[in-house]
Amino acid sequence: KVRVRFAPSPTGGLHLGGVRTALFNYLFAKKHNGDFILRIEDTDQTRFVAGAEEYIIECLSWCGILPQESPQNPGEFGPYRQSERKASYRAYAERLVEDGNAYYAFDTPEELNAERNKTPNFTYGHKTRSSMRNSLSLPEDEVRSLLENNTPHVIRLKVPEDETISFSDMIRGQVSFETNIVDDKILLKADNMPTYHLAVVVDDHKMQISHIFRGEEWLPSAPIHILLWEYLGWKKEMPQWAHLPLILKPDGHGKLSKRDGDRLGFPVFAMNWTDPASGELIKGFREMGFLPEAFVNMLALLGWNDGSDQELFSLEELVEKFSIERINNSGAKFDFEKAKWFNHEWIKKSDIEELRPYFTAVLAEHQIFQVENHYLDIVINLVKERLMLLTDFWDQASFFFKEPETYDLASVLPKWTVEKTSFFTDIIEKFEGYEPWNSEGIESLYKLAIQASGLKMGELMLPFRIMLVGGKFGPHIFDIAATLGKEESIKRIKKGLS
Ligand code: GLU
Repeated sequence: KVRVRFAPSPTGGLHLGGVRTALFNYLFAKKHNGDFILRIEDTDQTRFVAGAEEYIIECLSWCGILPQESPQNPGEFGPYRQSERKASYRAYAERLVEDGNAYYAFDTPEELNAERNKTPNFTYGHKTRSSMRNSLSLPEDEVRSLLENNTPHVIRLKVPEDETISFSDMIRGQVSFETNIVDDKILLKADNMPTYHLAVVVDDHKMQISHIFRGEEWLPSAPIHILLWEYLGWKKEMPQWAHLPLILKPDGHGKLSKRDGDRLGFPVFAMNWTDPASGELIKGFREMGFLPEAFVNMLALLGWNDGSDQELFSLEELVEKFSIERINNSGAKFDFEKAKWFNHEWIKKSDIEELRPYFTAVLAEHQIFQVENHYLDIVINLVKERLMLLTDFWDQASFFFKEPETYDLASVLPKWTVEKTSFFTDIIEKFEGYEPWNSEGIESLYKLAIQASGLKMGELMLPFRIMLVGGKFGPHIFDIAATLGKEESIKRIKKGLS
């Protein structure tokens, strides 16, 4: 049975690369009728950040990719937080020591620092372990007495010398590592907490994980994990790995970091995240005005395509079309303009029922409440083609809900004439007697009036727009007049003339 997991560490907000990892796990699970699991990897207490787990859940829920099993909704493989599984790890580390695949190391932090100062690129491994204080270098009885006296110690993996470790990555194909460049990683820390390496292997085994999709930054950890799967006697059940291509900066130079967002003015996190320690706010796609459908669609295409020109995919379509063979093995450049294009397309294609709540919220932020659905829907249909972000709604449509506060007069005033004033006085009168008040009708009435006045069409369209809208933008002007209604349109013309 296909079982995959998203295994974030609760250390802060979710970078879009993290959400993409979750998404690819989800797509693969759904495609194969498998399970998608959330496991919180919180064994590093020094990096734990309050609120991060809740943020992760909210984010997955916003994206519509909620896991079947999670700390909030445990299945039969719990607990789903590694800190709650703490008790189980020591035994595995001890077993590795007994079998000669790991060892106790008693070096104090000071001793290790001294070593690092002496040798700048110091690594703890087959070349150096004999000169350090551990159960491989010290006499057996000394080791025994150190342990009996509860001397603080860690357990380290004994990485073999001169071996090549290979595995077949689902995306990259055959990948090999020389063990001589892998150091003796700590598996169990002095506080009895496992490190990521031990915990991830034990849990992936216990939770019967079949496939692992994770970021490329974890590829160097693969040889350590493979050794552990082998030494713990589970090699046959080892999951298949897929290391996802990096998400790169827009210029393609290096991995996209959360700092790039601030610098270049786009969000890098899924949702707003306020760092509890510094109070710093990192902007998210959600608050910036992205539809979750667009965000998910955009993420899926960072490193994957279905082989055709199709770019717009719903989550269901992604599940249907997803295939590992079509994941690229080179990095994917993040392009914010393209991300906005996805959003624009999704706004255009979304149902009015789905859009309404977003715009109701935008209006509420500007103290406009209790707008009738019927009216709101007309406005949405008129402006949605013009929105890149949901939050653009205010700039594009505020004049439908309140009179413009400022008018772009510079473009009309210098060319103003008495003839124009009398045209508008006259049009007010014509409007007053006109029924039914609809776009086509108003348009023909207005155009006939222009003909009768002997003035030029081009000269009278812009002033009308400025009176109703305040600026040189917005949808078809007669649609605007029809939507605003007769009374309001006349009121605005009068105000414009005064
Ligand atoms: N806890 C790791 C992370 O924060 C998970 C890596 C993995 O999937 O093995 O990304």
